[in-house]
Amino acid sequence: MKDNKCKIEIEGKIPLINTCVDASVEISHPCKKPPKPEPFAEYKRIEMTLPQPPGLPPLPPSIFFDMDTRLDEASIHEVIASLIFEWGRHYREKEETGKSQWSECALKYAFKNLTPVWLDKERKFMVNEGKKALDFLMDTFTSFLIQNGTWNAPIAKIDYLPPTSSSTIFSENANKQFHVPLDFSVNPIPLQEEAIRTLAGSLFHAWMHRMGYRHPKEEYTSYLIGEAPMCLMRGYADKEPSIPDSAFTRFFD
Ligand SMILES: [Zn+2]
Repeated sequence: MKDNKCKIEIEGKIPLINTCVDASVEISHPCKKPPKPEPFAEYKRIEMTLPQPPGLPPLPPSIFFDMDTRLDEASIHEVIASLIFEWGRHYREKEETGKSQWSECALKYAFKNLTPVWLDKERKFMVNEGKKALDFLMDTFTSFLIQNGTWNAPIAKIDYLPPTSSSTIFSENANKQFHVPLDFSVNPIPLQEEAIRTLAGSLFHAWMHRMGYRHPKEEYTSYLIGEAPMCLMRGYADKEPSIPDSAFTRFFD
């Protein structure tokens, strides 16, 4: 085994930087071989560049997905890239101004289920308001992206939802901090028809289920898993009394 040669370790407060919690993640990179796509399923491997926002440890250069070939690759690419851009913006703004619009928006609206199910009681206690919760969420997302890009999580699948489905983008709940792929399923009709920002919010809601966040059935208001994607979809603006949350949450599952 020549594993030691290329193993890098990121320790200390990385990747959960902003919440000052002691989290460490061990990354084997790049010795791990990417798993092969399933030979009998019609998936296409897609690779996307992962930018390097300031204040984060060196990230892998790319993230990977196996996408059902019935889906439009360009649209999928655009939705993921849009969400990744907003994730990078959070860190850039924090670096430049000390504040992120996304965190400030979460502070105003998110009050319930602020942490993922896998977080221990002590750290849950520290993440006690929307701004800290959003910072913790972004760092968790960073960790999931790193695990994807270093093959420390199974390859993420992008599945096809029947056009008759009532869902836009859907992911199953997951309840672990490590080794969870960022799987999701997409309805091809809204994928073609809805605005990219709307779809990015829908995807982020689905991925928050993968990251361990929860809400009661069809209740989104005040829950981080509802408010964080809604903040993104509104461009971090305040809520308008004339626009109900349902204008956004109809794209959530
Ligand atoms: Zn949901």
